[in-house]
Amino acid sequence: MDVKKSQLNKIFIDYTFDIKKFVHWLQKNKIKILAIQLPVGLRLQSLRLVEALHEELNISVILLTDPCFGACDIPMNKMKQLAVDGIAHFGHSEIPSCPKGDIPVKFLELKTRVDPLLLLKKTKHIKELKNVFSPGKKIGLLANIQFIDYLEQMKDYLENKGFNVIIGKGDSRIKHNGQILGCNFSTAQSIANQVSGYLFIGDGRFHPLGVSLSTKKPVLAFNPFNDNLHNIKKFKEKILRQRLGAIAKAKEFKSFGIIVSTKPGQNRMDYAKKIEDKLIRHGYQSTILVMENINPEVLDYLPFNGYINTACPRLTIDDYLLYKKTLLSPIELEIILGVRSWEQYQFDEIIS
Ligand code: SF4
Repeated sequence: MDVKKSQLNKIFIDYTFDIKKFVHWLQKNKIKILAIQLPVGLRLQSLRLVEALHEELNISVILLTDPCFGACDIPMNKMKQLAVDGIAHFGHSEIPSCPKGDIPVKFLELKTRVDPLLLLKKTKHIKELKNVFSPGKKIGLLANIQFIDYLEQMKDYLENKGFNVIIGKGDSRIKHNGQILGCNFSTAQSIANQVSGYLFIGDGRFHPLGVSLSTKKPVLAFNPFNDNLHNIKKFKEKILRQRLGAIAKAKEFKSFGIIVSTKPGQNRMDYAKKIEDKLIRHGYQSTILVMENINPEVLDYLPFNGYINTACPRLTIDDYLLYKKTLLSPIELEIILGVRSWEQYQFDEIIS
């Protein structure tokens, strides 16, 4: 197969991935039946992907359609039952500390075709950076996976402009230097005592919010998709007000369900058991609830006043308004129980 002429080059309009390594992995593992996980936003392109794999490599494809938001969610046991030869996960980098299984998994990191450096070079962005980070102060540079390849070039450029830039290294949940996940900000933490703040490259407000809550330092978020550079401060204050409201409401609760995810990279059963013991000691009714997909259709109709979420920490904050019942993080429960003060508020992270 000629990789350069392959239809695989034309599957995603906005993203690229390493087709050569993908084809090599398929051939090396003699994959004949392949299960594919695609981010929801790219599933419209799935038919072309299935066709290309079938026509050019004679591979049958099973498309996994359950919601999947990260590399924490490789359904190894289910795929074993279906006897697939391999799993291709598109979009995210591997989480190195996640439990592995018997079926080969290929993580195909999708890299954007948008060049963030070209956009960041604009005078208005450099001016805004200088407003927040005075000359001589160190900045931590962070990104999500889509922009990770640009970090070294961006560091060089910013240093030429007079900034002092550091790229941190995360714990064993993090694959690349400078990378953060929505559940793990160890990369930012690793340089927290050296920097005065952070510049995050990526879309969405959740990742920079997490950095700011985790490190308590200023964070500027640069979204190359809409060429927007903004300080996350106001958004953080809004979210903290929301969390304070949720904690105040939950102080009246008598019962809590403790959510445990069966997704391999989100499963914190040991943590949940400790939380259950703590709740029972404090006189609450409490039970561990095990589920794969966490959603209001289930939780709003169970007989608990509120929930402590040990699964993906994003759900507690990002999806808060979708639920009639109150979702809290384990850290927020500590505030309710009086073992932690509001001033000691921290973001719940899954640490390897
Ligand atoms: S736990 Fe949540 S934030 Fe972490 S990798 Fe999974 S989906 Fe992403």
